[in-house]
Order: sequence, then C-alpha cells, then structure tokens
Amino acid sequence: MIKEIENAPLLGRNSFGIDAKASRLVEFGNAAELAAYLAAREHADAPTAVIGGGNNILFTEDFRGTLLHCVGTDFAITGNTKNKVIVRAEAGLDWDDFVSRCINLGLWGAENLSAIPGTVGAAPVQNIGAYGAKAGDIIHSVELLDMTTLKESVLAGEHCCFGYRDSIFKHALKGRVVICAVNFALSREPSPILGYGALEHETAKLGDPTLENIRRAVTGIRSAKLPDPAVIGNAGSFFKNPLVPLRKAEELKERFPEMPVYPGDTPEEVKIPAGWLIEKSGWKGAALGRAGVYEKQALILVNRGGATGKDIIALSDAITEDVASKFGIRIEPEVNIW
Ligand SMILES: Cc1cc2nc3c(=O)[nH]c(=O)nc-3n(C[C@H](O)[C@H](O)[C@H](O)COP(=O)(O)OP(=O)(O)OC[C@H]3O[C@@H](n4cnc5c(N)ncnc54)[C@H](O)[C@@H]3O)c2cc1C
Repeated sequence: MIKEIENAPLLGRNSFGIDAKASRLVEFGNAAELAAYLAAREHADAPTAVIGGGNNILFTEDFRGTLLHCVGTDFAITGNTKNKVIVRAEAGLDWDDFVSRCINLGLWGAENLSAIPGTVGAAPVQNIGAYGAKAGDIIHSVELLDMTTLKESVLAGEHCCFGYRDSIFKHALKGRVVICAVNFALSREPSPILGYGALEHETAKLGDPTLENIRRAVTGIRSAKLPDPAVIGNAGSFFKNPLVPLRKAEELKERFPEMPVYPGDTPEEVKIPAGWLIEKSGWKGAALGRAGVYEKQALILVNRGGATGKDIIALSDAITEDVASKFGIRIEPEVNIW
C-alpha cells in the first residue's frame, strides 16, 4: 500500500545521522503499486530519487523532491537451475535478513556479505562487497521499474556492468529506474571463500568452515572494526580504494616500501587502500569541527554529534586535497553525496 509522508524527517533514515528533510517520502510495496502512484501523482516534475536504508547517502541539504522507499520484503525460492537455486527477494528486505535466510536454507554465496547494513534493493547499485565476495557474483537478475516510461523489465546480472563498488545503476540507469526485486543464484554445494584478511583464521577458531561459522566470523570481525551507526553516525567506507596505474604504484613503492598494494580490475592497474593513504597523511582520529575520522579505521568519516552534511564534506575535501598533494592520487567518495 502506498504511504505518502509530506515534509518527511530523514534523521532516522540515514546512518550518518544527518538532520535533513525530504519534501515528500513515498513508501511502496511493489512495482505495480509504484507505477500506479507515479502515473497519477501530483508534483511529477519534482526531483525523484530512491532511498533504501540510507546507509550510503550523505545529505548535504534538504531533499526538495520525492524520495521513493520500498517496503516490500518478500523472500522466496523461485527456481532451480542445474547447480543453482534461484531466490527472489523484494527490494525493501533488510540485506542481513536476506543473508541469514539464505544461510538457514543451506545456500552458499551470500555468507561473506553478512552484516552489511542496507536493503536488498541497494545491493546491486554499488555491487556491495566484503571479504572477497561481491553481490554481483550471486545476482542472477534485477527487476526494475523505469520511472519515466513506467515499464517493468528484468535486467540479467551480466548486463548490470558490475565493477568495484560500481554498476550500470550508477551510470546509464542512474536516476532512471527503481529496483523493485533482485533474483539471486545461490549454490547448495559448499564453496567457502576464506582467503581475505583474517577470515580463515577467525572461522577456524569456531570450527569447520560451515555457513554458520563463516557468518559468525564475518560478523565478529566487522563489529570489532566498524563503528555502529546507532552509536556514532557513519556510512562505512567514505572513500573508494583508488585504482592506480602500475607505473605510478611502482614509483610510490620506492618512496613508501611498506605501502600495501592489491590487484586492480585489469593487469595495468593496482588498488591502493585509501585508508592507508589517509592514515599516512596523519588524519586517523583527527577532526574538523563535528566531523571526524574514525580512530580505528581512517577510511571511515564519522559524525561526532550534530554534524551537518556540509561539515562532513569540508573534512572529506581537506583529506582529499592533502592525500593528492602527498601522493599525487585523488581519492573519490564511495558514499552518494546528495
Ligand atoms: C557501518 C557500515 C558498514 C558498511 N560496510 C560496507 C561493506 O562492507 N561493503 C559495502 O559494499 N558497503 C558497505 N557499506 C555501505 C552500505 O551498507 C551499502 O552501500 C548498502 O548497499 C546501502 O544500502 P541502503 O539500503 O542503505 O542504500 P541507500 O544508502 O539508501 O542508497 C544507496 C544508493 O542506492 C540507491 N538505491 C537504494 N535503493 C534503491 C532501489 N531500490 N532502486 C534503485 N536505487 C536504489 C540510492 O538512490 C543511493 O544512490 C557500509 C555502511 C555502513 C554504515
């Protein structure tokens, strides 16, 4: 059922804890409901965007337009292919509930993505990833509603252009479609991915690499490392890890032999942890007014209480300029700035 909220407070709807408002927030259950609402609505010319849990959005001002928010949470097994089980989940389902339900069904593929805050509908947008796994690896297809034509369609995973924190929904389809449901292809065959960081070690402490033990290990590592948005406002990693040409990385490695370097998307580039660049520039634990850099992880910017979106941007700009002047690398936000 459609629920329209005028002058909607966003304070409880964004993990940075920014006190902003939207002119209108519209909750919908599914694509048909949303299409009927959009066809009949007033204010059709106002800016329209989609918000899930608000865990990857920084509001720098009030949103003068309509925010669409899916509250549909259906979850069902809808098919089987030779090796895979197809699970359909509506966009409003909490991501971690989705992961937990897959694990309860003995389905492999989502376990490393445990405890990422947000909704199923947002997962394809930045191709959420953690501990060597990416949502794009298990997305079979995405169900869409085009906000202009009001036509429903299904986009196959291989056409979503998934990359590092990237997809077609951040480019060609940005601002054009609403993701109403996602179909996942999961496996009944055990396929643990343990090669990332301390995951293998932490899982082994709990026993065999079962789905449940991997989930517990991931959740434990995350809660020890990441700030809880309910306690201190943040949006996880504020910056993307920059992809740097191999030659540039080699030059830097001569100046900073201890600099960590990871494989990039192509053999010509490597990924350098933005957190290392920020920490090396002296920002870990620092603050500018009410905006700060988390003391345990320099990649995370935090709201120390009462910060505005503009306070966070001032800090992010200062860090970006400083890192550029020290390393010749321009780091870019992973968070959506609105
Ligand atoms: C503590 C913390 C830890 C985090 N750790 C990770 C991590 O390990 N890995 C990772 O990848 N991310 C991480 N994030 C970021 C965040 O969890 C993800 O980006 C998540 O997908 C956001 O989901 P959301 O529902 O809150 O999306 P929102 O923040 O509401 O929206 C994010 C973007 O997706 C768009 N969007 C949302 N729903 C839809 C929809 N139905 N249709 C079309 N567009 C839509 C929005 O318009 C916006 O552009 C972390 C965040 C926090 C706060």
